[in-house]
Amino acid sequence: MNKLTYTVFTSFMGNTFLSIVKIIAGFVGRSMSLIVDGVHTFADQSLELVTMSNSRYNKNNGLKHFINLFTGTIVLGLGLSFIYLAISRGVVIPRMRLLGISLFTIVFKYVLSTYLMEKGKLYNNSILVNDAKQSNKDVLSSVIVFIALILMTLSDKVEYFKYADMAASIIVSLFVIYTGFVIISRDLTEIFGTKVDNLEYINSIKTFIENNRNVMGIKSMVTHKYGPYYEVRCDIILDNNLTLKFANEVVKYLEYVIRRTYKDVIIIINIA
Ligand SMILES: [Zn+2]
Repeated sequence: MNKLTYTVFTSFMGNTFLSIVKIIAGFVGRSMSLIVDGVHTFADQSLELVTMSNSRYNKNNGLKHFINLFTGTIVLGLGLSFIYLAISRGVVIPRMRLLGISLFTIVFKYVLSTYLMEKGKLYNNSILVNDAKQSNKDVLSSVIVFIALILMTLSDKVEYFKYADMAASIIVSLFVIYTGFVIISRDLTEIFGTKVDNLEYINSIKTFIENNRNVMGIKSMVTHKYGPYYEVRCDIILDNNLTLKFANEVVKYLEYVIRRTYKDVIIIINIA
């Protein structure tokens, strides 16, 4: 397992653990919002898988698109169902021991996203850094649940606070619905892709490659935009006299510099 895979794997296991803890604690402790937050973590995991499958498998892999779109639809459906459930369930006062668990999930998620951010910076991986930022934002949903649980403890003093768990469930369900939409739209842009032609800094990447003295020319360069990323595929022509080892070094060097300079560019260079 390489370091990058290890990081992704660790984050994945951490989040799965978190998701299970939230759902079980929510059931036992009678808090709908904690359950929905667990589903939210699960939804974010699915999004992660979809993003990974997009970079790993071919664009024309029908099964991949089927699984991705199916997952997106399930997540969307779960989000909508929980809004319905939260409203139809009415007011139920959760067990207050949940406060400790809820606080634990916040800290755990925060540590996890910090870990992801540090590794992302270390390996200079824009996808990892972006995931860390997203995961950092997702701490918010656990904070909302925590606040709701505190308000619930005060519901014997302030009447309206008894709706806090219901309200938090609805808000977190919206996060889930949003994630479902992102999964579906990521897969659809993967199918249709938005082709980008004349972007100034894409051209500056081209110039940078061309200016390398080992590069004889660029055979083709195709840019697609996927969500926040530009994927640039470039076939370059190298001097025939270069050894294979040196040619690979040149490609590695070019990719390295481009990755460092353009954080939102996923560069793939092939030797034509
Ligand atoms: Zn999320």
